Amino acid sequence: MVGTVEPEYVALYWSGELARRIERLERRLRSCDICPRECGANRREGELGFCRCTHRPIVPVACVHYGEEPVVSGTNGSGTVFFGNCNLRCVYCQNYQISQDGKSQRTKEIDPQAMAERMLYLQNELCCHNINFVSPSHFIPQLVRALLTAVPMGLHLPLVYNTNSYDSIKSLRELKGVIGVYLADLRYASDKWGQRFSRVSDYVS
Ligand code: SF4
Repeated sequence: MVGTVEPEYVALYWSGELARRIERLERRLRSCDICPRECGANRREGELGFCRCTHRPIVPVACVHYGEEPVVSGTNGSGTVFFGNCNLRCVYCQNYQISQDGKSQRTKEIDPQAMAERMLYLQNELCCHNINFVSPSHFIPQLVRALLTAVPMGLHLPLVYNTNSYDSIKSLRELKGVIGVYLADLRYASDKWGQRFSRVSDYVS
């Protein structure tokens, strides 16, 4: 995948639509329903919901990744931006240190400007084919906010939404035209196992 065609999010930026979406998304952080858990935590004021995240994005790792599906990694690699903590917290998670060690992840909080700079680094210095957001479901407003900073800095790569699929439809609608590729894992085909291993009763629905 090579970023030769300008992604739709660039036009959304210049039309002002991206800014309008951020306003709507950030408002929802005051009684958080960004993912289907709908905890109602006031993340703007530092309250923590199930994902243990405030309004500040947590990005412990941003690096080139050659191990994604071949069409995503290509020859230069995918520019992965790992978000800290998680809205699902499966007991078998292979990225436990990143997804579930809430206390240490809080020390990795950054601001949208720093997140935008990491995206530009992956594009300009490491020549990645795309920006690949890993576990973004609880950080959708922050993702779009960073994009608002990154577009005028020259970001033009396709964006990949690499998700556990426990996503809010309302939040996904705000990503229309922003995300180019949805890389969606299917964790469960039974709510029984979703409840047992991720403490979620409605994963399948
Ligand atoms: S994003 Fe976090 S705080 Fe918001 S509803 Fe989901 S788990 Fe709760």
